[in-house]
Amino acid sequence: GLDITWAVDWVRLSADVIAEHRIELITLDREIGDGDHGENMDRGFQAVLPKLDDLPAGSTPGDVLKLVATTLISTVGGAAGPLYGTAYLKGAVAAGSAASLDGPAIAAVLAAARDGIVLRGKAESGDKTMIDAWTPAVDAAEAAASNGSDAAAVLAAASDAAWAGAEATEPLVARKGRASYLGERSAGHRDPGAQSTALLLQAASDAAS
Ligand code: ADP
Ligand code: MG
Ligand code: MG
Repeated sequence: GLDITWAVDWVRLSADVIAEHRIELITLDREIGDGDHGENMDRGFQAVLPKLDDLPAGSTPGDVLKLVATTLISTVGGAAGPLYGTAYLKGAVAAGSAASLDGPAIAAVLAAARDGIVLRGKAESGDKTMIDAWTPAVDAAEAAASNGSDAAAVLAAASDAAWAGAEATEPLVARKGRASYLGERSAGHRDPGAQSTALLLQAASDAAS
């Protein structure tokens, strides 16, 4: 299963990949939003990094997810801050106090995170939001876990599906968030939150391999 080392590596890789893709996320959000998504996410993940060093001995993956949640909620702002904050918080609850997460546990963490975003933002599949990356990722993770895949393979399946989901937001007309103000003009652009979701789930998979 995946332990505290994986969880900390996931956060570090997330911070790296969000920093690397900051401009890309800003550009996507400039096309159908207000252009701050890359800035918001980079600020949030950079703020988590120093806190990782203060985690007490014996901390669990759930503790790491909770640390990410509270930091994102207080630093990211906009729509994505509370949505991702809720995702990591619900993920932390699903992880519980387990020292290590196997395939089904990882799938449960991802499902809880997605459910948290839906509870908070009320988006449905096809609304052109981060949910369009999360839901295929959760479906793929649950399918892999029920086929007996290990935790790393569950995350690899989730990452691949999140990328496909992010790409599939391009033709969609936004029905939630700032992009919905554009109506039909939101079609032809990839949703920035779906793109950041794919980056984060790929980081989770990379941290496990
Ligand atoms: P803001 O729109 O407040 O500037 P961000 O730019 O940081 O916030 O985040 C925008 C992203 O948030 C969108 O690309 C979309 O994926 C996501 N989003 C917005 N509203 C919702 C919602 N109701 N449910 C799920 N995701 C949403
Ligand atoms: Mg924005
Ligand atoms: Mg904004």
